[in-house]
Amino acid sequence: MAYKTVNPYTNELVKSYPDATSTEIEAALSTGNSLYKKWRDEPVNSRAVILHEIADRLRENEDELAKIATTDMGKLYAESKGEVELCAIIADYYADNGAEMLKPTPLSSRNTGDAEILHQATGILMMVEPWNFPYYQIMRVFAPNFMVGNPMILKHASNTPGSAAAFEKIVKDAGAPEGSLTNLFASYDQVADIIADPRVQGVALTGSKRGGQSVAETAAKSLKKNSMELGGSDAFVVLSDADVDKAVDLAWRVRIYNAGQVCTSDKRFIVADNLYDEFLKKLKANFEKLVPGDPMDPKTTIAPMNSKRAKEKLQGQIDKAVAGGAKVYYGNQPIDLPGQFIQPTILTDIAPDNPEFYDEMFGPVAQVFKVSSDQEAIDLANNSELGLGGIVVSADSQHGKAVAEKIETGMVFVNSFLVSLPELPFGGVKGSGYGREMSQLGLTAFTNEKLVVTA
Ligand code: NAP
Repeated sequence: MAYKTVNPYTNELVKSYPDATSTEIEAALSTGNSLYKKWRDEPVNSRAVILHEIADRLRENEDELAKIATTDMGKLYAESKGEVELCAIIADYYADNGAEMLKPTPLSSRNTGDAEILHQATGILMMVEPWNFPYYQIMRVFAPNFMVGNPMILKHASNTPGSAAAFEKIVKDAGAPEGSLTNLFASYDQVADIIADPRVQGVALTGSKRGGQSVAETAAKSLKKNSMELGGSDAFVVLSDADVDKAVDLAWRVRIYNAGQVCTSDKRFIVADNLYDEFLKKLKANFEKLVPGDPMDPKTTIAPMNSKRAKEKLQGQIDKAVAGGAKVYYGNQPIDLPGQFIQPTILTDIAPDNPEFYDEMFGPVAQVFKVSSDQEAIDLANNSELGLGGIVVSADSQHGKAVAEKIETGMVFVNSFLVSLPELPFGGVKGSGYGREMSQLGLTAFTNEKLVVTA
């Protein structure tokens, strides 16, 4: 039984889940395929009512769902509740706007006749999702594709099976037809077989570069369209005209949210030299105030990491960075609690030859760099194999925007948190993957963009 909930605060095994059987897999494929054929003949807006019902049920069950997510992967209970609400917002958005967004797009053509692009469903979509936002990661794919009419099979992370089962139950209880979303506790080999099945037409993965490469290779073998939402080592650029207090107020929050386990939480803080010392001092002051503890306790402000494996990986990265010349400005002390805690840590003096310079540190560790010009900040931000998001802070938003335009990532926010909303596209470039989720781009990621010309 590979799928287990082990509470990352108590280390207690809460529940193990049985592996998917070949009968369950065949049932998921066959009901999904029948549903695709049925949905093809139904108007898109017929699915909106159920999607609204899913949003309502998410809100009604917010406390229980939040508890399940926190038990699965350890995030603060308040953060889990926020995640459930965001899922409801996404579901409502596609229920309200999906049908309009999927209307045929007319084209003007020199050909005689009317040309238009239809945005049609293609068939079953395989979803492979990570543990860090155990509901939101599913919803980013589910809501748009439910409106499109692509049935989905879910393989969630092996440490968040409780959340996977709870999400599937919400969908079923809301009245969604069988096959709309089937959660399977599937092995990697079973996932590969599902992807190869002719009834499956696409694969959406969110996860690590390693996982993405492996699943993309499988998808390529049977020429299945895929989107890859992979890791990030985003830059947080503080320009020389920035207000340090405002910059630090954003910086500590983005780095600590979800115990630092967010693909788009900035991991490299690139600070103009005139502000560097003050930025470091104030970042440390905020890190010092954080209170580790039970993520269900509202007094706790820094959660454990999601698993023993994740903690050990990050601790190994810190040790390697320090052995390679990085200095610990703050943190890196053991926390005397049973859970999988890493003390929020600030590292400086990380040179490009440090073995951790190009690595994503997926936890509460801030790498801080000093630069002497905008160009140096841009060059350092772009000196990464990853290209997901980023933040630029400046007193002059046009100055910030000019720098943001030169950063090689899929998303950059100026003077703001990088927020994920259903109307905004989400995704990266370079080693952070390809494709976009949400917005018009995500809605049509797995449609047949079909040309019809009527003479
Ligand atoms: P991971 O190991 O790649 O796992 C993610 C999902 O992929 C899990 O369900 C995992 O299953 C599955 N998986 C991995 N290899 C597979 C294979 N060969 N075949 C089938 N399934 C496979 O990722 P992680 O390290 O847990 O998650 C953190 C990473 O995700 C970070 O790099 C983070 O930046 C990235 N991330 C990206 C985004 C984004 O939107 N761009 C969002 C969140 C996280 P198991 O759990 O069973 O191994």
